Amino acid sequence: MGYVTYDYTCLACNKTFEAMHLRDEKPSCPACQSKKLQRHQPVCAVVNTTTQFLKGRHWLSDQFNDWQLKELVADAKKHGYTPKDNDIYLSQLADFPGDPKAFVNASDPAGHIVEVCKKTNRKCQGFVNL
Ligand SMILES: [Zn+2]
Repeated sequence: MGYVTYDYTCLACNKTFEAMHLRDEKPSCPACQSKKLQRHQPVCAVVNTTTQFLKGRHWLSDQFNDWQLKELVADAKKHGYTPKDNDIYLSQLADFPGDPKAFVNASDPAGHIVEVCKKTNRKCQGFVNL
């Protein structure tokens, strides 16, 4: 655990690439070894996470312990959304804790992610291709 996958653009040579690295580590450009990189919105990681969630059927009640879930549901309700049992919460889609658009329903996770990506200009790739 502790590994993250992000898309980067190298500011030195303009190469775009995907790197998996430890959360605390900074990758370098595979073409020119520069560490001057710009990280893209981590939607790729979101999509991978979703696929894993779906495989493992982990819903909200599996993602959070009781008090975390209560807090999250309360936050969501404040913003006009009542989370469902088979929702998955993707913090990468949230602009603030409990953001309704971060609740992805299991019936159509890809459709939801695409919609949020389009609305918020996040980059989507992986099993959701824009
Ligand atoms: Zn480079």
